[in-house]
Amino acid sequence: MSKTLEEIQNFEGKYPKQIWSLFFSEMWERFCFYGMRGMLVFFMISQLDFHESEANLQYGATQAFVYAFTFVGGLFADKILGFRKSLFWGGLLMIVGSLILAADPHKFFFLGIAFTVVGTGFFKPNISSMVGQLYKPNDSRADAGFSLFYAGINLGALLGGYLCIAIGKGELFASIIPEELRWHLAFGFAAIVMVISLINFVFTQKSLGTIGLQPGHPNNEVKSAPIPKWKEYGTYVLSLIFVPIIMIMVAKTEYTDYFMWTIGPLTLIYLFYEMTKVTPSERKKLWAALVFILFSILFWGIYEQSGGSLSIFAAKNLNKDLLGLDPNGVNNSGGAFFIIFLAPLIGLLWIWLNKRKIEPNTIIKFGLGFIFLGLGYYILFATRLFADLQGITSLNFFTVALLVITLGELCLSPIGLSIMTKLSTKNLQGMMMGMWFLASAYGQYVAGIIGAGLATAKEGSTNYDALITYTDGYKQLGLYAVIAGVVLILISPFVKKLMQEVK
Ligand code: GLN
Repeated sequence: MSKTLEEIQNFEGKYPKQIWSLFFSEMWERFCFYGMRGMLVFFMISQLDFHESEANLQYGATQAFVYAFTFVGGLFADKILGFRKSLFWGGLLMIVGSLILAADPHKFFFLGIAFTVVGTGFFKPNISSMVGQLYKPNDSRADAGFSLFYAGINLGALLGGYLCIAIGKGELFASIIPEELRWHLAFGFAAIVMVISLINFVFTQKSLGTIGLQPGHPNNEVKSAPIPKWKEYGTYVLSLIFVPIIMIMVAKTEYTDYFMWTIGPLTLIYLFYEMTKVTPSERKKLWAALVFILFSILFWGIYEQSGGSLSIFAAKNLNKDLLGLDPNGVNNSGGAFFIIFLAPLIGLLWIWLNKRKIEPNTIIKFGLGFIFLGLGYYILFATRLFADLQGITSLNFFTVALLVITLGELCLSPIGLSIMTKLSTKNLQGMMMGMWFLASAYGQYVAGIIGAGLATAKEGSTNYDALITYTDGYKQLGLYAVIAGVVLILISPFVKKLMQEVK
């Protein structure tokens, strides 16, 4: 007998037990996604003979599309498919994408990537929305749950990000995998873990009660007319039509600019239209959600330097004084490593503070997120104090910055997922979660622009000059982050009013 929503949400203890199953499905999905992301630029340059700048631009375009598509995936989940079917469809597309890449990564590179982009759009926002539904709207344990879920995200990111490229490059299992098969297997590995993710989800569904059912399903809590089958199949067909469109747009990166300038305003117009159909109280909550979404663009714009300018900084300006580790490896995976340990602890801290009635509310947590981010960037600035005359500075000190930035991420990113589920009306959950991730797409886009600004200033100069230019830039970014944090804390009474009873 499947549980009612009431029974699921009335769980005892710190976490609902279903969260573990969602944790594992999302962990494998992130393994697949970050595994692929980690291989993109390297594969384009070493195997497809792309120029460095071209490969970076196309990498940026893929990242922008992947997060932008979460809006589409969330929207179709709300209106037609429901979270479960969306997730399943997204997972299947990701498997197809990875298999295409495994079959012939050189020939079908962009086709495989396009499938993965659309698939992630259908998968990623909807699994997070389901986590939100395990909690009653005012359950103070939700932030802790999302922090735990976030640890799963990063465990997948860390494993996938490390293993796939290591297999592709022949740094792992080289003796058992013949050279000509390495890339095939690396991409194929992503397909295998995605199959595990979906099988795990099939079993999870049994314990989800009514969570994630299609709109109009007879058991659904919100009663509505059943969705005609043609709309469901139409959605599948439409998503397949997007595949060649994305292929073209990723291959010609100038389209990314047009796309980014169009999709944001269009989604805002659509949100404003949906806002006319809700009650004034619900409308205020959607306005509050929009404040969080807009601020998060700035957060990710600064944070995402890690994939761009910080990786160049790591390669050129850092020594190996942290256990002899490679600075780029630390820059790529240090954040995920810290999160896996810190996320559950911070989740428990929120619960502990809540019991003592001193848990900061979401806006203050966001403000703290920015302040930690800013402090982290000030520490990056301060790495110059340890530099030698060649402009080489301490990886140890850099890692402290990563730790502080990670604390900021944990005050904002899982909390953002949680607050989206609390501030959205029942029938806009997927779309709002999609908008949250769309902000990440803009963040990536902004990050690229900031990073490029830092890099051009540096051309033709010495390593030491580069250190000074980069660290000056980081000081500036640190300042912006701290200002944003202070602004958030100052406007918190106003946003709190919009949020009403939501914390
Ligand atoms: N690292 C997190 C994830 O992969 C957050 C990504 C984001 O929102 N930019 O889910």
